Amino acid sequence: MEKLLQVENLHVTFKTHGGEIQAVRGVSFSLDKGETLAIVGESGCGKSVTARSIMRLIPEHTGRIREGRILFEGRDLLALTEKEMRELRGSAISMIFQDAMTSLNPTISIGEQIMEGIIRHQKVSRAAAREQAVEMLHLVGIANPERRLKQYLHEFSGGMRQRIMIAIALVCRPSILIADEPTTALDVTIQAQILELFKTIQRRTGVSIIMITHDMGVVAKMANKVCVMYAGKVVEAGTVRDIFYNPQHPYTKGLLYSMPRLDDDSHEPLYSIPGTPPDLFSPPKGCAFAARCDYALEVCRHHQPEFSCIQSQHQVACWLQDPRAKHVFPLRTATGM
Ligand code: SF4
Repeated sequence: MEKLLQVENLHVTFKTHGGEIQAVRGVSFSLDKGETLAIVGESGCGKSVTARSIMRLIPEHTGRIREGRILFEGRDLLALTEKEMRELRGSAISMIFQDAMTSLNPTISIGEQIMEGIIRHQKVSRAAAREQAVEMLHLVGIANPERRLKQYLHEFSGGMRQRIMIAIALVCRPSILIADEPTTALDVTIQAQILELFKTIQRRTGVSIIMITHDMGVVAKMANKVCVMYAGKVVEAGTVRDIFYNPQHPYTKGLLYSMPRLDDDSHEPLYSIPGTPPDLFSPPKGCAFAARCDYALEVCRHHQPEFSCIQSQHQVACWLQDPRAKHVFPLRTATGM
């Protein structure tokens, strides 16, 4: 498959009053044409910062992309001027945010907001832009699109607002759609409808999707490929089958183990990974998961694990999988994982 996007060794930091936060610490992954990559992890693991870095939407006064390359169709996005980036945003790479209420303008009609991108990027007449906006609302499943175009945000339900966000993001037919927790604010039935809509649109348009989520259920439903992030790093990457049927990193196992299961009638409380993620003002010297890991070895606390290849696309950064540490037994035993 053709590589559409390659993120290589991305490092992003933020300046705060308390010091510098190392939010993203050497993240690498790639996205092929027509596939869906899920980036999954707890809040604060750096997944949204990674997504915003691709769009170059890191606030300049506090954030800084310190190192790395982001190649889109071979062009390094980090080397483009802001004007060149503005041309790309919305037309080649689009982003949908979690909360439509704060991302859409309540004082401008929905039609104007959808048409704005079309007129800016495609330089077409208002009539042609309106036609495309109607077509797009129809594609995202909004009935009576001609009438709906004249309406304002408060006249739509939560699910409808999310559909409008998707319409705005897709109206210029981007190659990549980045969806940052697009269903978190929605109830489960609407969530299922929106996820189904993403799949339908991908089938019809061939768009590649990066889905940022903390929900393994969303990952199972949507992804071809998965990157599991922890404390600003990718700790495991593979196909969706690798991650669900052959997880190797204790953190990935913990995430899977904390998912509610329909076939579980044990009435046991739902598992949660003990402890909290490390302070990214001064990340640990060794594996960032060591303080929460039931399998931690002495080496884990002093040296960062490198990636080991489990299968062609399946990689994990854990000392347990490192050939040099194979004969070292865990100091503690696993509990239930
Ligand atoms: Fe646990 Fe060590 Fe693997 Fe980190 S490297 S996940 S601490 S076993």
